[in-house]
This record gives sequence, C-alpha cells and structure tokens, in this order.
Amino acid sequence: MSADQVTDIINNPIRVGILGFGGLGQAAARVLAPKSEMLLVAAADQKGYAYNPAGLNRDRCVTTYQSQGSLGYLESEGILSDRSIAELITKADKVEGYFLALPNLPNTFMASVAQQFINSGWRGVLVDAIKRTSAIEQLLAMKNELQAAGITYMTGCGATPGLLTAAAALAAQSYAEIHSVKITFGVGIANWEAYRATIREDIAHLPGYTVEKAQSMTDAEVEALLDRTDGLLKLENMEHADDIMLEIAGICGRDRVTVGGIVDTRNPKKPLSTNVQITGRTFEGKISTHTFTLGDETSMAANVCGPAFGYLKAGVNLHRRGIYGLFTAAEIMPQFVK
Ligand code: NAD
Repeated sequence: MSADQVTDIINNPIRVGILGFGGLGQAAARVLAPKSEMLLVAAADQKGYAYNPAGLNRDRCVTTYQSQGSLGYLESEGILSDRSIAELITKADKVEGYFLALPNLPNTFMASVAQQFINSGWRGVLVDAIKRTSAIEQLLAMKNELQAAGITYMTGCGATPGLLTAAAALAAQSYAEIHSVKITFGVGIANWEAYRATIREDIAHLPGYTVEKAQSMTDAEVEALLDRTDGLLKLENMEHADDIMLEIAGICGRDRVTVGGIVDTRNPKKPLSTNVQITGRTFEGKISTHTFTLGDETSMAANVCGPAFGYLKAGVNLHRRGIYGLFTAAEIMPQFVK
C-alpha cells in the first residue's frame, strides 16, 4: 500500500454502524474502538439509536445502554424510537456498512431487516452472523433484489457459520473429494443474560423446542431450563447454515456437514475446544482429516466480531468496485481490519 493510500484510510475510515447493542453489539463496539480503518458512527437497539458522523464514544454508548437500557438516552446523540432501524437508516447517510448484531427472532427477522434496507434506497454493505440454514435461504431468495438495490450483503459471517466455515473451505483445497465437515463448538459465558438472543436461539435447537417456542419463553422459563441442565446446553445435529454455505461454495453437499456443541452459561471457560474437522480423499487416494482448532482463550465475541468486521471490509472493497448481491463467508476471504 502506498503512503497516500495509508493517509487516505486514516483520514477517511470506513464509517460503520452496529444494529443490535446486546452482547455481540457491545463487543463489536469494543473490537472497533482501537481500529484506525473503521469508525463507529451509528448504533441502534430496540428502543432507540445514536448517530454521530464524527464517531460515537464506545464507553459512553456501553455505559448508557447498560445503565438505562437504550442508546436512545445517549446525551446529545441519542434518540428514543420504536422504529430505531428505519429512522437510523434514513438519518445516517454517511454509513458505508452495518454489522447486524440482531436477534433472528422470529426466524424471518433478518430477512425483514434486509428488505427494510432495500426499500429505503440505502446503498452499502450489510454483514450478519445468522445461524440457521432456513434464514440464509430467505436471504438467497433476495439475491437479485439486493443486487439491484446496490447492496453488498455478506451473510453467515460470525464464528459458526463464519470463521469455521471459511476454514473448512480453505482446508478442502487439499482434497479431490470432501467426505465430511464436522464442526464442534464450545462456548463459555459467565451469565446467559449477556447474550439473551444467542441462548434463546440455541434453546430452539434442543429436541422438543422450536424458534417460536424459544422466542416466547419468559426469562424465568429460560432460567428454569438452565437450572435443570446445570447451565449447560448440549446441541447435536443443528440446523446450521455452514451446510448450505459450503454447498453453494461448491465444496460438498450439505448432507456431509454436521454441527454441534456445548454452551456453558455459567462459566466463561469453554467446555471444549471449538474445532472443525475436514475429512477427504487426496488426488493420490489417501483419506485424511485436517483439523482447525480455535484457541481456548478466544471468546465467542472475539470469534464472531473479528470475522464480521473482516467480512465488512471485504464487502466494502467489493461494493466500491460495483459488486453487489449476496455473498457468504465461504465464498469471500475476510480482510484484516487495522
Ligand atoms: P442480545 O439479545 O444480547 O442483543 C440483541 C440486541 O438487539 C439488543 O440490543 C436489542 O435491543 C436489539 N434489538 C432487538 N430487536 C430489535 C429491533 N427490532 N430493532 C433494533 N434493535 C433490536 O443478542 P446477542 O446474544 O448479542 O446475539 C445477536 C445475534 O448473534 C443472534 O442472532 C445470535 O444467534 C447471533 N450469534 C451468531 C454467532 C455465530 O457464530 N454466527 C455466535 C453468537 C451469536
């Protein structure tokens, strides 16, 4: 990169917004704070939003949200609204890309947010970390509309789907044929309230539960369930979009991809090491397995928010070249944000 390009990035960082300011949204603001290539200028939660084209102060945003329950209370920049996303999109004309750290409850919510962006006439980059295959299928059906609207939408760009799916796509290159991709995750969080949507969406994968049922559970009901399981959620054969993403990327059929794991909601230590195992046959006929294991010290938030902004940067580079539509984490390399 030339000296001029470096100066340009420092003087003109990518202006980004975060929609949803819960566990992941707040972590995303922390991830962005020391970056020079990206500047947080907009953020929204269910009850309000804040916008400042010169940059939002991360500490003030987090303190205000935690003490008063909404960014709408932020002094001078906050606005209370029950239509926070719609109002922010219209007002925040300097935002080049958004990380959608929103719950996908109901399972059609993210697609409805994408539709809102299309209808508003806004052009830019959207990145999500949604998890269900059926949720990505809804976005796939909107591919042409997104393209026509001038939106570059990067989907499934968290940890799984996201980082681990991309690792599988990379590891697959050693093989002539892919036999299986097995993702096993371990998540440890100190308390479930810090990630309510994540935990509700995980509960929806348990036998006997649905997205609707998990969404309608009261906090007391979630706590009662976690009391019965000692705070652990054991998940097997989940409906996880890593499968459709690897299929679209031409790596293997979705039936060869399995996802499961354990979430401990009472201990920040991971109950097991998150990993993806990619088994295949080489051109010489050897069967082998590549394993990519995440460091145990890395949190869910680090493994979701880092990749999300890496894909946001990659998406901005596509968008600036006039490339719009829908892309998954298995098709595009994330770019490291400085
Ligand atoms: P959370 O419950 O902690 O926070 C959700 C936030 O969204 C809150 O600030 C809430 O006010 C806001 N919100 C809800 N409805 C809104 C609306 N209509 N308009 C504006 N804001 C609204 O959520 P979380 O635990 O941080 O999870 C966010 C998402 O990330 C979930 O869908 C989860 O499944 C996903 N996730 C993905 C991965 C991955 O690896 N792909 C990992 C973890 C979580």
